Amino acid sequence: MESKIVVRNLKKSFGRLEVLKDISVEIAEGEVVCMIGPSGSGKSTFLRCLNRLESITAGDVLVDGHPMNDPNTNLNKVRENIGMVFQHFNLFPHLTVRENVTLAPVELKILDKETANRRAEELLARVGLADKADVYPGQLSGGQKQRVAIARSLAMNPDIMLFDEPTSALDPEMVGEVLEVMKQLAADGMTMVVVTHEMGFAREVADRVIFMDEGYIVEQGTPQEVFGNPKEERTRSFLDKVL
Ligand code: ADP
Ligand code: MG
Repeated sequence: MESKIVVRNLKKSFGRLEVLKDISVEIAEGEVVCMIGPSGSGKSTFLRCLNRLESITAGDVLVDGHPMNDPNTNLNKVRENIGMVFQHFNLFPHLTVRENVTLAPVELKILDKETANRRAEELLARVGLADKADVYPGQLSGGQKQRVAIARSLAMNPDIMLFDEPTSALDPEMVGEVLEVMKQLAADGMTMVVVTHEMGFAREVADRVIFMDEGYIVEQGTPQEVFGNPKEERTRSFLDKVL
């Protein structure tokens, strides 16, 4: 099968701090990959290298065949196909939910306003917020805000979604509603890379789990393999702490 994302010998340093040491991985279309690992192991940096929010120190990242570190690649064009959802939702507080969702496709002239509004309604229904289109983010709970952030990413019609600890800032009772939306997205065939501490989600939804530590992929496999029968001592000791 053709790989949607190809990472070859990726290295990333911040000054003298080498954060990603030699990462190679391929992610297939429709695959759901969950990245787990201790804080500071390089998970966010890895995710940000995929859409070139971070420069790449060495190696290659290809998204849909586009080399992300090639000056000839139109990064903005490729990024239109890559949605990203962060721990903090970064919604525009002075815009309604509908306006938050329609902003990017309208500004970038990908959709006209009417089409964008229709699409926003579909997407808000999909994340269970059909009745919130006209409210401001300040009137929403954390879980609702994060679902709006997901709808906003989907408005660009991406075929890859990157999630960086999307539930880590949420009160526990709101985690489930966000994971449910992500689960549905996975079931609909979205290619997803999810950095998460939600081991239950990873176990249930991931096609593959990647354990990172100190800038390396230490171990990867199906959830059954990584959670049920970890091969590496570092994986075992991490899982002992979080499970
Ligand atoms: P994780 O997401 O696994 O917690 P990160 O990718 O955020 O790990 O960070 C990995 C390491 O890179 C940490 O030591 C962090 O302090 C460092 N780091 C991340 N971003 C920067 C940056 N912009 N400048 C300098 N150091 C950074
Ligand atoms: Mg992180």
